Amino acid sequence: MNNFQYSRASDVADAIRLLSTDPSAKLIAGGTNLIDLMKENVERPSRLIDISRLPLRGIEEAADGGLRIGALVTNSDLAYHPLIEQRYPLLASAILAGASAQLRNMASVGGNLMQRTRCAYFYDTTTPCNKRSPGTGCSALDGLNRNHAILGASKSCIATNPSDMSVALAALGALVHIAGPVDARTVALTDFHRLPDDKPHLDTILGRGEIITAIELPPHSFTQNYSYLKIRDRLSYAFALVSVAVALELEGNAISEARLALGGVAHKPWRSLEAEAALRGQAATPDHFGHAADLLLQGATAGSHNGFKIELARRAVVRALMQATNATPQSQAHKKIA
Ligand SMILES: Cc1cc2nc3c(=O)[nH]c(=O)nc-3n(C[C@H](O)[C@H](O)[C@H](O)COP(=O)(O)OP(=O)(O)OC[C@H]3O[C@@H](n4cnc5c(N)ncnc54)[C@H](O)[C@@H]3O)c2cc1C
Ligand code: SF4
Repeated sequence: MNNFQYSRASDVADAIRLLSTDPSAKLIAGGTNLIDLMKENVERPSRLIDISRLPLRGIEEAADGGLRIGALVTNSDLAYHPLIEQRYPLLASAILAGASAQLRNMASVGGNLMQRTRCAYFYDTTTPCNKRSPGTGCSALDGLNRNHAILGASKSCIATNPSDMSVALAALGALVHIAGPVDARTVALTDFHRLPDDKPHLDTILGRGEIITAIELPPHSFTQNYSYLKIRDRLSYAFALVSVAVALELEGNAISEARLALGGVAHKPWRSLEAEAALRGQAATPDHFGHAADLLLQGATAGSHNGFKIELARRAVVRALMQATNATPQSQAHKKIA
């Protein structure tokens, strides 16, 4: 690990000021991703700005009936908060599908959204990687790309975003509150992460000096018919090969509202309004689910080792929609090895 300066931010404005004045400074919240990357020499910040003591740990009811979640709320506190368990069980389920209990106790909401790809070449500083060192090339294009993107990738980078929480937030229509040196702004979670294009080193739309302060959940919470299905190489403690967040409103067997987002397939959570529109007004049947999956996966392209992910994703979407329709229990405790 390289030497670095350490500062503890006294408030959000102080964090923004410190971040703005030093382009190679980094915020640290729970440290569960950043410190790993520093130990691997992937991240080499000149300064760590500790935001862990800022008062961004609240979960408050918003005037419109939604919830505002501070950026420093831990993944555990969020998943087990009574308002989340009751009103946004899809989010609780997605969070509990990620990492381990110890990690979730440290990991923050803001850090989870900002965590970096798990592409093995990104971690291996002896290999070319456009995300780590812009302009050096992408080792995964012709390398081991079993876990890599099937949607939205570019010739510069085929990495996936590893966050489970973001997939549920995308399906739920969450907003990200951002504070910065100029103005505060709010963006849809689906616009927060970027596709790689020719700038894969930029994971998100955050500008210099900007910091996530909160996530906002809209009132529509889908408490009955939802599913977070995470397909991975082992039952726990692994990143998604493919994950699906589904939320439905049903009137009898007819779908009146549908939300669908995929994880593990692209540089960002993948949501298709077209696929959701195709479900509205239809009966909740495997045929309609298959059609929605086809729309969601339109344009999917495989690399040399990850062609299986296209069919895996299609089947996972249909299965998650069935689980949501049947209100299959989503607690991690109910998930068993087949
Ligand atoms: C072994 C292991 C397994 C894991 N498995 C999963 C999994 O299955 N699913 C999953 O989703 N995650 C998984 N994770 C990732 C884990 O969830 C993240 O490491 C964690 O959420 C990051 O949060 P943090 O607060 O520790 O972030 P930090 O490590 O402190 O920061 C991460 C990044 O976010 C930036 N940042 C932090 N807070 C803010 C903010 N408020 N505004 C702007 N930038 C900010 C930091 O500058 C840094 O760049 C795993 C991690 C490990 C180590
Ligand atoms: S896929 Fe992206 S992160 Fe992985 S080696 Fe290529 S450029 Fe780097």
